[in-house]
Amino acid sequence: MAEILKAIKGMNDILPPESARWEWLEDVVRKVMRRYGYQNMRTPIVEPTALFVRGLGEVTDIVEKEMYSFEDSLNGDKLTLRPEGTAGSVRAIIEHNFLYEGGKRLYYIGPMFRHERPQKGRYRQFHQVGAEVLGFAGPDVDAELILMTAALWRDLGLKVGHDVVLQINSLGQPDERKAHRAALITYLESHAELLDEDARRRLHTNPLRILDTKNPAMQAMVEGAPKLIDFLGEASLAHFAAVKHVLDAAGVPYQVNTRLVRGMDYYNLTVFEWVTDKLGAQGTVCGGGRYDGLIEQLGGKPAPAVGWGLGMERLLLLLQEVGIEAPSSAPDAFAVVFNGTPLSTVLTTIEALRAKGVSVVLNPAGKDGPASPKSQFKKADASGARYALIFGPDEVAQGQVAIKPLRDGGEQVSRSLAGAGDWAASLLSAPQS
Ligand code: ATP
Ligand code: MG
Repeated sequence: MAEILKAIKGMNDILPPESARWEWLEDVVRKVMRRYGYQNMRTPIVEPTALFVRGLGEVTDIVEKEMYSFEDSLNGDKLTLRPEGTAGSVRAIIEHNFLYEGGKRLYYIGPMFRHERPQKGRYRQFHQVGAEVLGFAGPDVDAELILMTAALWRDLGLKVGHDVVLQINSLGQPDERKAHRAALITYLESHAELLDEDARRRLHTNPLRILDTKNPAMQAMVEGAPKLIDFLGEASLAHFAAVKHVLDAAGVPYQVNTRLVRGMDYYNLTVFEWVTDKLGAQGTVCGGGRYDGLIEQLGGKPAPAVGWGLGMERLLLLLQEVGIEAPSSAPDAFAVVFNGTPLSTVLTTIEALRAKGVSVVLNPAGKDGPASPKSQFKKADASGARYALIFGPDEVAQGQVAIKPLRDGGEQVSRSLAGAGDWAASLLSAPQS
């Protein structure tokens, strides 16, 4: 026997029935995006390594240790499987001069890659939905992006403020961060004995990230550190206040978390995360914020931007955890075909039904013809279909098909094969949206 090859650790196959939950989530996401006027964008999965080093910052978890980087064996180019979607989105809008006519609201859905230790809610290939708004500086779009996530949670059936809790903060502007940074370094240096290896290394390169530590031994010390919010000037505070004001008015509850800094260097002003206590250590379902400096940093004409990314695996785990299931993806009807029935009649009849939007699963015959009626009805039941369409040779010869309700009781009826298009609607299990 040939050796069996397996998927790479931390990279998962998504198969039925699980894949139906993914399709449902993607459908809900697309509907929400349309309601807010966001347009779809698709960028390559492989990008030049330099894009992420320059975009995300050299001293970040992602760039330091999580990237899948390799050399193109043909020309030696340094390439990386995208670990997140913002850098690639910004590269694309610069490359295509996409803000030429004004701001854009964009979204994407797709796989991301990070070389992390696989565990529940943390994988090496995972999937994100991301939304990016480019070219608008005001707090209204920050607020809209957050309201949009809240709408998504509601559409999925999650309780906002309970199943998912919103945390927000403001990171101010670069000069405000600089003043805070100096005060922070002084404070951290005075507690040098408490710093772990990561923190010592970052002390002078990226001290803000030390506040993001997951090391419990450093929590108390980090708690007492100078807070960035106390270094913000009037304009930054006003921007933050405006975002909070919209959230208040819209009835979206939030917590101000002054220690929220996010993993990438590119953020400024508004940052936020939606967290849950139902997924253990992998509690952040969605995170985002403003990144006004990134477009310029990547060589584009300066333009403000703001966005978020959500982890689809974590969101699906959370939905499962709170008992929210995808609507049924069972077919409307299942075609049971008895021995001796002309297949051309069967197939053209169900084609007529499908053309009217009815989903019909055909039970395929084997080499020796159709399976026994008993085994076919068992499959029809297992399919979850509302109706069995029974094609028997005698009935078909009379131009008829029998329709048997499988789930809601009721009598079996006969219908004319030729008029399938006319009675198709009676098989639709749910109104088509
Ligand atoms: P964490 O702190 O959990 O590592 P992060 O800050 O690195 O998250 P982001 O870069 O902000 O995450 O990515 C946005 C979202 O993508 C996260 O909130 C999370 O839901 C999801 N995510 C990030 N890394 C992974 C992963 N390795 N596996 C699954 N989902 C992930
Ligand atoms: Mg991470």
